[in-house]
This record gives sequence, C-alpha cells and structure tokens, in this order.
Amino acid sequence: MKRTSRDIRTANRYEVLRQIIAASPTSRQELAAATGLSLATVATLVGELLDLRMITEVGFEDSAGGRPRGLVAVNGSGGALIGVDIAETYVHVELFDLALNVLARADEDVRPGESLPEQVVAHVAAAVGSVVAQAGIEGARVLGVGVSVPGQVDRATGISEYAPNWDWHNVPLLDLLTEHIAYPLYLDNPLRASAVAELWFGAARGRGNAVVVNLGTGVGAGLVLGGGLHRGVSNSAGEWGHTTLVLDGRLCHCGNHGCVETYVGAPGIMLNLRELSPGSTLLHPEDQTATIDALARGVAARDPVAVKVVRDTARYLGAGIADLINLFNPEVVVLSSWVAATLGEPLVAEVREAVARHALPRPLAATEIVLSPIPTDPVCLGAATFALEGALQTVGQRSPRRTVRAKGRIAPST
Ligand SMILES: [Zn+2]
Repeated sequence: MKRTSRDIRTANRYEVLRQIIAASPTSRQELAAATGLSLATVATLVGELLDLRMITEVGFEDSAGGRPRGLVAVNGSGGALIGVDIAETYVHVELFDLALNVLARADEDVRPGESLPEQVVAHVAAAVGSVVAQAGIEGARVLGVGVSVPGQVDRATGISEYAPNWDWHNVPLLDLLTEHIAYPLYLDNPLRASAVAELWFGAARGRGNAVVVNLGTGVGAGLVLGGGLHRGVSNSAGEWGHTTLVLDGRLCHCGNHGCVETYVGAPGIMLNLRELSPGSTLLHPEDQTATIDALARGVAARDPVAVKVVRDTARYLGAGIADLINLFNPEVVVLSSWVAATLGEPLVAEVREAVARHALPRPLAATEIVLSPIPTDPVCLGAATFALEGALQTVGQRSPRRTVRAKGRIAPST
C-alpha cells in the first residue's frame, strides 16, 4: 500500500488530536512521549490544530527547573459534528461537541416497507434538522455530517452500491442527502464507523490490531490493522457476515447459502429460536428488537429456551470469530452494535468458550474478547469521527468540498 507524506501527516494529525481528546489538558512534551513523534512534529501539528480552533492553550505547568510548559486542551465549543446511523429499522442521529460529548439526539423509526431511498433520506433530514434545533447552535459551527449506511459504499462518489437488506443498488445517497443538508457530508458503512469509534475512543485505542464485530440486523467486521482502519482496495474489507459458515446452509439476502449473518444476525437469531421452539412466547415474528429484548430478559431469568438460543448463537459466532482471530491475530475482538449490547455479557461469556474450541492456541492467547465500552451509539460516534477526520483533512485547503446550494436545506445561515 502506498502511503504518501500527506497520508502520514494526516495520520499523525489524527494521532495527536486523539491523544489530546483522551488526556486534556496536556503538553507538547507529553504528546511527543505518548505518540512517539518528535517534539518538532508535535509542535507543528499542535499549531495546525490551534489554527483550526479544535484545541486551545489553557495555561502552563511547571517542569522541574526548566521553562514552564504550555498546556493545550480540546476546544469543545470549537465546532460541532453530527453522526448519522442509518440502520434497517431506525435512524439515529447525534450531535457532538469537539470533545465528542453528545449535545443532542434524534431517533426515527424506519418501519418495514419504508425502505425507498427517498423515505430513508427524509428520516435522516428530519433527524439532522432536529439535533441542530435542539442544540440551539449556529449552523455555521457544524463542521460536518458523517453518515453510516449498511452495505457497500463508494466513499468517493457517495453511492450506496448495494444494501442487501433493502435491495438497494447504486443509490446516489450523497446527492440525495445534499438536497436536504448543506454541511460537508462523509459517507461510509457501519463496519467502518464502529471500527473508527473503537480506534479513537473505545477498546481499540492505542492498539495496533483489532477486529470490531458488528452484530445487528446485518453482520460484519471492521478491521483495524497496523494502527489504522483497513478498507481494502475498494472499501469493502470486513464483509465477514457474508463468508460461508455452513455449506448449503440458510439462504442469505446476498444470494449465497450458509453466510455467517444468517445464523447470528437478528433475523438469524430469530430463526435459531423458531427452529428450537416454534411456539415460543419469546418470539415476536415481525419485531427483531422485541425478540432480542425478550431473549435477554429470558437469559437473565434463566429461561431454558432463551439460554439455549443464546448458546447456539454463540456457537456459530464463536466459530466465525475464531476464523477472524486465526486470520488477523488481533489484540482485541470487540462485540459491537445493538444485538451485542442487548444480549451483553451472557453472550460474550458463551462466545469466549466457543472461540476457545476453534481458534489456534497462539493467536487465541494474544486476544481478548470484549463488549464495546462506548456508552452511546458507536456507529453515530464513528460517523461523527469521519466528519472530524474530514475537517482535519481540510487543513491548508480553504474552500469547502461541496458548494452546491439548494433551497430549504438545513444549512448555516449566511
Ligand atoms: Zn450473505
């Protein structure tokens, strides 16, 4: 992979800001020690972040006999970021300050059958409008909007190439959103959003190699390799949900049989339950959220059917995660997204046992398996982080990336 000096400079800028967000206030000397960069490089990058008003000088600390050291901290009010998590059943939007504290939230339900691009875009526009109004901020302070949409995404063209659960093909999503939202937009998918959230703020922070397993309606893995997000040559690495777990197994949306997703995604878990106990009261046939909630309550109450369904699901999951551990030798495997959050530690405990039966001893010994420690929606946080990264990339460039104007858009008042 070719890395230009510009890429390296951008990566270093991310690293320094990441460290400042994690440990404000801090000095240039501490930043150099924490990042392994030279003091001169850190001083230059800190200067750029000060120019962007992303950080501020906040005073001095004594340094045993030497000159007092200047301290910098993240400038929470230096701008706002918006993260959009478009999922199969909902749209969540959160507005963050620059310290990535949530200032406002909005949720829209996406009901079955409401899956036309225009319908989904209308939900997103309504929710983005809502968070901007709630936060009461001047639109001009929104630095960007990161948007996560399931499936295959072309970041450069803003096209959702394929969203299997909605049967979307080549939807010009960024253009549709641009008709309603005038801030800079950054499109990607939930695998990469949740991986970036863990890399900046969660269990992968400071770790070179991590796998973030997303368990929702869809399933996939975000890959952090060599300290950065691994996208693959066409931004589609990590489609682990569509690797084959069972030859000639269950039919998947993608057209293949036996994909991981068909056993451990929410609809797959519902099928595990239906096959075990067709008349179970835990099953809410048209409602994934209600069924997964019922299973979590059932496990807590030691309901034998719920316990068995979670164990069966963990067996499939364990075999698939063992493959990821053998392939990538990560320091940590993070279980993320709503199904993992709802089923929680009882699922993780079963997964650890199942993984231990399948993974090779050496990579297994180097890996821990944890739930995402991020207390809010990791996909919203990761999407907002894409907007933050986008703003950091504009250093030295004066004109915004998108300058199209349209009536009635949510936009800075100029
Ligand atoms: Zn598939």
